[in-house]
This record gives sequence, C-alpha cells and structure tokens, in this order.
Amino acid sequence: MVASECFPLVKTGGLADVVGALPAALLPFDCHARVMLPGYPSVSEQLRDPTVIGTFGDLFGGPAKMVAGRSETDLEIIALEAPHLYERAGNPYLGPDGRDWPDNHLRFAALCRAAERFAALVPDGWAVDVLHCHDWQAGLTPIYVREEARAAPPVVFTIHNIAFAGLCAAMERERLGLPATGFSIQGYEYWGQISFLKAGLVYSDRLTTVSPTYAKELQTPAFGMGFEGVLRQRRADLVGILNGVDETVWNPEIDQSTAATYSVRSFGNKKVNRAAVQKHMRLDLDPDSLLVCAVSRLTHQKGLDLLAETLPTLINLGGQLALLGTGTPELEAMFMAAMKSYPGRVGVRITYDEPLSHLLLAGSDAILVPSRFEPCGLTQFYGLRYGTIPIVARTGGLADSVIDANLAAVTARVATGIMFHPVDADGLREAYNRAAELFSDPTAWRDLIGAAMNQSVGWSRSASRYAALYADVIRDPRRPVRN
Ligand code: ADP
Repeated sequence: MVASECFPLVKTGGLADVVGALPAALLPFDCHARVMLPGYPSVSEQLRDPTVIGTFGDLFGGPAKMVAGRSETDLEIIALEAPHLYERAGNPYLGPDGRDWPDNHLRFAALCRAAERFAALVPDGWAVDVLHCHDWQAGLTPIYVREEARAAPPVVFTIHNIAFAGLCAAMERERLGLPATGFSIQGYEYWGQISFLKAGLVYSDRLTTVSPTYAKELQTPAFGMGFEGVLRQRRADLVGILNGVDETVWNPEIDQSTAATYSVRSFGNKKVNRAAVQKHMRLDLDPDSLLVCAVSRLTHQKGLDLLAETLPTLINLGGQLALLGTGTPELEAMFMAAMKSYPGRVGVRITYDEPLSHLLLAGSDAILVPSRFEPCGLTQFYGLRYGTIPIVARTGGLADSVIDANLAAVTARVATGIMFHPVDADGLREAYNRAAELFSDPTAWRDLIGAAMNQSVGWSRSASRYAALYADVIRDPRRPVRN
C-alpha cells in the first residue's frame, strides 16, 4: 500500500484509519501488506526495528532511503526518509501559514517513485504482487511503474476523496519524469495542469472508492469534480467497497479513553460518559437533554455551516451540542461564537484530540454527520458501535451504512439512525425533529441503540472484497504485458 497517512503513525483523517486497519484485516485472506509512507518526523520516531532496505543518491533534490520497520500496532511499514522533503513539523501537507507546502508535488512524487522502486526490490524475498495506491499523493505510481521496462505489478487505486486533485504546473512535467505523451485529455493533464489524481485514475489497472453509493455519485457532474468523464469511461474497472472500522481501536467494551466501558448489555454505564462529556465540554449537567456530538474537519464539505445555522432549532428541542474539530477560520469562529451565545448548551473544542473523540462518542446520545458529500465517512460507524445514534445526510457512504428510522424500519426494529435529504438547513431541522421525537420515546430509542450496536461495522467483509479484487487483477488477461 502506498499512502500519505497511516494510523497510528500519522493521521489527519479517514485515509489514515483505512490504511492503518486494512492490512490486519487482509491477513485472514492470505494477503500480506506493507505500507509505504513518507518519513515524516512522527513516522520515523515511532518506527520500531528500523532497517535500511534501499537508498537514492538524489530523489527530487536530496538523498533518501527506504527504511523498513514496524508500528506499535505491528504494521509493516516502509518509511521513505528524505529530510529535504519530509523533515518538517506539524501537518503532513500544510506549512506554518496553513497553505499547502509549495513542493508538495515533489514530496509525493518521491513517494510514488519509491513505491515503484520498492516493487522491484524483493527485500528479504518479499515480492510485490499488487501495488495498492491511495489518493492523489500516490497517483503517479502507475505511470512510474509503466515507464519501467521490466515486469511490474498491477496497480489498484483507491479514491478516498475526489476533491483533492493533486495539481501542479505543467512546467514541472520534466522534473517529475512524466512522459510528454501523457500530457493530454486522455492522460494526466487536467485543465492545463498536471493532476496526480487523474494519473491514478487513468493509468491504474483497477479503481476503487470507499462506498458503493460514492462510486455511482462520482460518475455524475454533481460529485465528480470534473473527473466524472474519466470515471464513466472507466466504470467497468471501478468498484465501491465500503470502509470498516478497526474494532480493536473503536470498542466501547475496552476503550481506555472513556470514563466507563460498556456494552449493549451494560448500557447503563453510558450515563457515566455522558456526565463526563458534559463536564469536559462545560455543558449543563442536564440528564434529559438530547446530547449531540460532531467530530469533524470544519469544512463546507462536512456541512458544518448547516449545523451552525440550525443550532437554535436543536437547542429549542432541548438539545445540547458537543463539537470537536478544526477547519476553516470562518467556521471555527462561528462555533466559538455559538458557544458564547448558548452557554451550557453548546460546548466547542477547536483542536485535534483523538482521546476526546472517543469520550464524545461514548457519552453522546447522537452523532451528527451533515456532509454535502461523503465518500464513506467513519464517525457514523463509531456512532453505531458506541450506541450513539448517527444523524446523517443521505449521501455517499453515509447512505450505505445507516438504516434510516422510517416507519417501516422502526416497526421492524431494524433502524440504526436518522437520514435526511436534501442536505440543507430545512432538511437538518427536520432530522432534529425526528431525532427528538424518537428520543422522547425510550422504547423506540432503545430499539435504535440495540440495532445500531449489533450492526456489523468491522473490516472483515470489505477486506474479503479487496482480497478478491487483488486476486482478480493479478490474473486479469486484459492487463498489458510489460516485458
Ligand atoms: P475525512 O477523512 O473526510 O476527514 P472521515 O469521517 O472519513 O472524514 O474520517 C475522519 C477521521 O478523523 C475520523 O477518525 C474522526 O474521528 C477523526 N477526526 C476528525 N477531526 C478530529 C478531531 N478534531 N479530533 C480527533 N479526531 C478527529
């Protein structure tokens, strides 16, 4: 696997969770994965038993080496150590000014080049059968692989979020070592620039994305962000495989970040977490409120402006909000102002805090995910697992992972959450009303919690689909024969 993030070594979002969990989930299917990552300081510091397995005299402006090792979670990691590219503190993509590093194209082209070289190495007899590349940062890998004369493994490319096109100026083409012939509408060119993402979409043998609904949505102008044409052309090679969650990391029965562990049988303990959340977030210790949390990047995609806009309705219904997130300055300011306007009813933490995210999941009654688009989304799965009812927009993976509490589903006691559409302020207000009504009926709410906590959210089924896909692409007769 080739990726720019991997939990627990480096994480800014769901990509890290997926790359951190899938390798272990693949083992029962006889697939053995190693993860290649940029050697950011946090990665190199945490790497156990480091061994150098390859070196580069000059990789986009300086020397580099591939260092094999393990994470504390026993993932096999290959860190690409290149101080001139990665030895920078903080966010993996952004400089201190909050903008993308100007050399991000070189930083991630280096990762792709190293992946291509690693595939040729066979260190300790370990040969690569498939390169599984994740998102734009790994997008040039299939080009580099194709350019080599030797036999190369097939490439599977997964779209976690089409919104990040990985663009750079056309004049960088030679420096990146990209063939001139590919700079066209059929190739990696995108409106006059180079798109790493498009390279991944065009040159990989198979494409996946992280939910079946997003796989369909991506082929439409409303969601494809300009790549819908390429994806329609490649639809026979595109499949949606729903993400799962790491059930060892997200398990209320053993979660050390909670105030009290619980299961569906000892659900009463959730009250202890509820009080802990209220205390921690400086909310009224109200035992009857509908306590809603959100753990999210604060961006337009995530629809959190809708949450800010509809807060009065939630509060009027007796709700409380506990919000954890970081994002655009406007949204951060909006939520800080909301906290001042509704003391005791709205608690906000503008920070990235993994343990606090666990506590919020354990102590809230519901988790809100009002995304305008959502390739898969993970926090709704955490909600299901923690008996924290997801209130979600009907889009992408959210639509594939929650059973809406409509009349038929409630009567059959199979509903696991509340889904709303259209994704606008009125749609969200309607969702609050439905949630409040269900919450006021203890039997109905209990049924929701029971069904939610029993819903399978692990990786096993999806890992088997990835394993089948790898097997399929390895023996695909359509693959061009490369010397
Ligand atoms: P995306 O990858 O688009 O940001 P996902 O829902 O797929 O959205 O994944 C987000 C991941 O990041 C989840 O594991 C979520 O719990 C975590 N997360 C987001 N913001 C924060 C935060 N401020 N503190 C802790 N965890 C966060």
